[in-house]
Amino acid sequence: MLKPTATENQSVIGRFAPSPTGPLHLGSLVAALGSYLKAKSAGGLWYLRMEDLDLPRVVPGIADDMLATLEKLGFQWDGEVVYQSRRNEYYREAAEQLVRRRLAYACGCTRSEIAQIASAAHDEGLVYPGICRDGLPPEKVERALRVKVYDEVVSFEDCIMGRYSQHLTASCGDFVIHRADGPYAYHLAVVVDDAAAGVNQVVRGADLLGSTPRQIYLQRVFQYETPDYCHLPLVTGPDGAKLSKKDHAVSLAAGRDLARDGGLLLASALRFLGQAPPASLKDASPAEVLHWGVANFDASAIPRASAPFVEL
Ligand SMILES: [Zn+2]
Repeated sequence: MLKPTATENQSVIGRFAPSPTGPLHLGSLVAALGSYLKAKSAGGLWYLRMEDLDLPRVVPGIADDMLATLEKLGFQWDGEVVYQSRRNEYYREAAEQLVRRRLAYACGCTRSEIAQIASAAHDEGLVYPGICRDGLPPEKVERALRVKVYDEVVSFEDCIMGRYSQHLTASCGDFVIHRADGPYAYHLAVVVDDAAAGVNQVVRGADLLGSTPRQIYLQRVFQYETPDYCHLPLVTGPDGAKLSKKDHAVSLAAGRDLARDGGLLLASALRFLGQAPPASLKDASPAEVLHWGVANFDASAIPRASAPFVEL
C-alpha cells in the first residue's frame, strides 16, 4: 500500500504559547488544556512556545516553573520549547521585508500626539491617524515601525466564537510592529513563529480574539497560510468580573499538591470547557484525565461565555 504523502495527510499542529510574566494560572490552564485536546484528539502535534519577548516584564525562573507545572499535570509537548527571546533575527528579517516592500514605515509620534489627533479610542487602543504614513516629518525621530493597513474588513470563522470581523482602518489603523526602544510586537512575532513551526491550529483565550484580524492581515501580507482559530471562554472571578493582573499572579500550584490534586484540577478544567468527565475521574491521575479528555473531546460543547472556574 502506498503511504500518503505529507500533503495528503496533513497533520494538525497546535500550540500553547504562554507569557512567562507570571506563574501558570487557571486561565492559562484552560488555554493549555483546550489547545492540547483540540490538537491531540485530531492525532496532531502540540508545541510549546514561551512568549518572552517583552523582557522587562518577564520574571526570571517563571518559564521553568511553568514547564514543571505542565509536566506535573501530565502534559507532554512535541519537540523543543521555542523561546521568542531567541528569535529576534527572524522578526527583524520580517520587518525589514515589509519596509523594503513599502508596507511598513517609520513613525515618530508620541502616544499623547496620537491621542490628540485620534478620532476615537477603540477596544484595541487608539486608532493611529496616519500622521507619518507619507514620510517621517523632519522634526521627528523614529519611535516605531508601523505596518500600513488598507480600507478592508478582515473576517474569519472562529470554531467557537463564530464569525468575527474587524475593519482595520477603523479599529486600529496602521499598527506598530516594532518599537525603536523595545521588542518586536506580539502580532509580528506570533505570525512569524506560527508560520515557521507550521502551526495550523491556534487555540487560545478569547482576550486575543480582537487581535486576530491584525495577525490574519500580516499572514496575508507574508503569504502565510491562515491557521484555524478557536478562542476559548475566559475564566472570570467568582462574581463574574474580569480577572485582574493580581488574580493572574496567583499560581495554579499555590497551596496545591499537584501530584495529588492535578487530576481533579484537570477534570474541573474539562468541565469548564463544556466536557462531561465522569465522576470516577475525580480521583484519577492527571495522565488518566488527559487520556479521557483526548478520547472524548467534543469541541462543539465548549461554551462561548466567560465564567468562573468551579473546582469539582
Ligand atoms: Zn507617526
